[in-house]
Amino acid sequence: MQSDSIANPHEKIHPFAGETVLFATKHQKEEIIIPLLRELGMVCVKAEVDTDQFGTFTGEIERTGSVRETLRKKIKAASLKYPDGRFILASEGSFGPHPIIGFMQIDLESLLLWDRKLKFEIYAEFLDTNPVHGEQTLGPRDDFRTALKNLGFPNHGVIVHPENSVIPIFKGLHREHDVAQAMIDSFCVSTNGRVVVANDLRACHNPTRQAAILEAGKVLLEKLKSFCPSCSYPGYAITKSIPGLPCSDCGEVSQIAKTVLFECVSCKFSEEKKRPDGKKSIEPSECEFCNP
Ligand SMILES: [Zn+2]
Ligand SMILES: [Zn+2]
Repeated sequence: MQSDSIANPHEKIHPFAGETVLFATKHQKEEIIIPLLRELGMVCVKAEVDTDQFGTFTGEIERTGSVRETLRKKIKAASLKYPDGRFILASEGSFGPHPIIGFMQIDLESLLLWDRKLKFEIYAEFLDTNPVHGEQTLGPRDDFRTALKNLGFPNHGVIVHPENSVIPIFKGLHREHDVAQAMIDSFCVSTNGRVVVANDLRACHNPTRQAAILEAGKVLLEKLKSFCPSCSYPGYAITKSIPGLPCSDCGEVSQIAKTVLFECVSCKFSEEKKRPDGKKSIEPSECEFCNP
């Protein structure tokens, strides 16, 4: 008998145990989240929603609005399709330059869980600073095998299209033969004789992205296990950090977080708490007075 099948009498049953979470996804992302939510006794199932209508990575449909807005649109679409579903989950990945370190490429994976009954949201995210997200433009004589190697092929799928058009576009390619054929077809219609080979960023074709979604899922799981001291609703978590950590040498306060604010998603109860890492001061090397 597996040890996890024995109920721990000291462990309280999660208030959402037995509830079903409808995951609005088109690209098998529910498989990543199912085992995490099972830990709470929640059942995660795929909600058949065409999430591509809110934007695709390959640009046929432009993404408009913020990540949060896109997540809410996906949830809305699922909620209309499944009027009896209480919990709806949506996910969104956004690739691009790091907001501060511009040359660094990132993948921000976001999850939003909506409770229709109590009308609250729990948001979780994970920032992957090493995503497999590349693009190469090739001419007929270029070595496409090296290009594919740089894109993490074949376990990371690729897309192929003419350089100045996304029509035709060949997606989800994992076999060299299929890439070669897609390149020939793209060369035939390319007006400048060049084609693009890029990573297919849909989760089911990008295992690095799947790992980032798993990390975002773990953040969501931790939030679901954290309960508000006032109303007992799950999702009690840090929403912002408050600067003011002093320098260990000169004592001047810095812009680095001194405390963090925990807030309830339900009753809005909040508490300022010490930094979870216990850090009480900054080094003089980090201080703008000691090390201007
Ligand atoms: Zn100082
Ligand atoms: Zn509360």
